[in-house]
Amino acid sequence: MKSQILEEFRVIVGERGIITSTEELHTYECDGLTNFRVLPQAVLLPTETAQVQAIVRVCHREGIPFVARGSGTGLSGGALPVRDGVVISLARMNRILEVDFENARVVVEPGVINLDVTSRVQSKQYFYAPDPSSQSVCSIGGNVAENSGGAHCLKYGFTTTHVLGLEVVLPDGSLAHLGGKTLDTPGYDLAGVFVGSEGTLGIATKVILRIVKRAECVRTLLAAFPSTNEAGAAVSDIIAAGMLPAAIEMMDNLAIQAAEAAVRANYPDCGGLLLVELDGPNAEVESLMKHVDELCRKNGAWEIRVAQTESERALVWKGRKAAFAAMGRISPNYIVQDGVIPRTALPRIMSEIARLSEETGLRVANVFHAGDGNLHPLVLYDRHIAGQEKAAEALSYRILELCLEAGGSITGEHGVGEEKKAMMAKMFAEPDLETMQRVRCAFDPKQLSNPTKVFPTPRLCGERPGEYVPHPLESAGIAERF
Ligand SMILES: Cc1cc2nc3c(=O)[nH]c(=O)nc-3n(C[C@H](O)[C@H](O)[C@H](O)COP(=O)(O)OP(=O)(O)OC[C@H]3O[C@@H](n4cnc5c(N)ncnc54)[C@H](O)[C@@H]3O)c2cc1C
Repeated sequence: MKSQILEEFRVIVGERGIITSTEELHTYECDGLTNFRVLPQAVLLPTETAQVQAIVRVCHREGIPFVARGSGTGLSGGALPVRDGVVISLARMNRILEVDFENARVVVEPGVINLDVTSRVQSKQYFYAPDPSSQSVCSIGGNVAENSGGAHCLKYGFTTTHVLGLEVVLPDGSLAHLGGKTLDTPGYDLAGVFVGSEGTLGIATKVILRIVKRAECVRTLLAAFPSTNEAGAAVSDIIAAGMLPAAIEMMDNLAIQAAEAAVRANYPDCGGLLLVELDGPNAEVESLMKHVDELCRKNGAWEIRVAQTESERALVWKGRKAAFAAMGRISPNYIVQDGVIPRTALPRIMSEIARLSEETGLRVANVFHAGDGNLHPLVLYDRHIAGQEKAAEALSYRILELCLEAGGSITGEHGVGEEKKAMMAKMFAEPDLETMQRVRCAFDPKQLSNPTKVFPTPRLCGERPGEYVPHPLESAGIAERF
């Protein structure tokens, strides 16, 4: 990158706001998906919206691609840098700007850590509902871009339900306000379009969040089943009975072993473990808990416990939330997948995953949001054994195909990013992808904001973004699209 442009960035963010040394750039070369790595030209750390705007204006003028980054915990390579581009880290824009208890709204900068929102409002019995397992480190900006989920999204909804408005720096550097503090603003739901757009439509610089009042009573039950099949059948029965628990999570035996090794949550040693949390008025929770207990026993649960104290409940969740990271205790390497299936397909898909695991000789641990049908198979492997990494990748993609064949999706919450863009063409037809491209081009005609992510097969050179027009070489039969 030309030194004169770097100098321009230095003037915008100051000496402490720019990183160009190779050693320091390595910190930003990947996100939580470490098998993709790219060194950016520079990392910029703005502290206010005006600086983000000024940086993006330079990028727009010079045609420099840029990638927004929150905490870098993403699992799909969304914050992976682009080789000729810059990373714009929002980590220093981490102030909670406004807390409005009367209207249950909080306004934050994008670098605020998810759990800090709840910490700030819990004295008045409020909480911020979307709770990714990474909530103690991931940022609200990253949550917005990925439309992140978490255990309690079954009842309370994903990030998109809780983001009411956004201040956004568009890819030409101009500022836009999408949505607002009121519930339904007229016109297109552009805040809804931005949430889940994985950094491809611009950079969120302020976020208006909805906070939720804590229920009078919260109870958490642990049920041990012989296998995930029986546990899956219990999940279907609980939902079919008309209940909407705050959370229903499942772990298989490998996941239990890993979580126990890391956290000692005192989980029963079983083939399939369900965590069911109910919240609401005391009387309602007590009565529904009995019903959940009956349905679990009917489906073969041989041990059922209800957390008796707040610290017991916290330990149950600590084990579940540590489960991904805990895999390092039982395997040198692993791939975290993220697919969705209709809940009723759970027993069939779990058996199929077990069969594929046996066939390939690769262990697969399962820990997931069972109530949403959002699977997280963890394919365990050792990168030092020749061919295992490739075999693990192939197995994890095969599992996603199974999800699609069952009528599901290639991602429930981790996003498409770099990792799954090739799978997009399996899930969507060309007209669907074209429509998405048109939306992207309306925000970012130069395709500078997190380019190369989400969409499959880069277009041929000389093609214009927007509506698909065949390249002259393609029309002449010299080149083909694949
Ligand atoms: C152990 C572990 C557990 C996890 N559990 C869950 C889980 O339960 N549920 C879940 O949904 N995810 C989970 N994740 C994935 C990850 O934490 C989430 O995707 C999270 O939202 C990423 O936030 P981040 O701040 O780290 O974003 P980053 O990884 O930095 O970025 C993610 C994406 O957001 C974009 N982005 C970042 N900030 C902005 C901004 N201000 N404006 C526009 N775009 C932006 C980036 O360009 C990138 O595309 C887990 C990850 C780990 C490591």
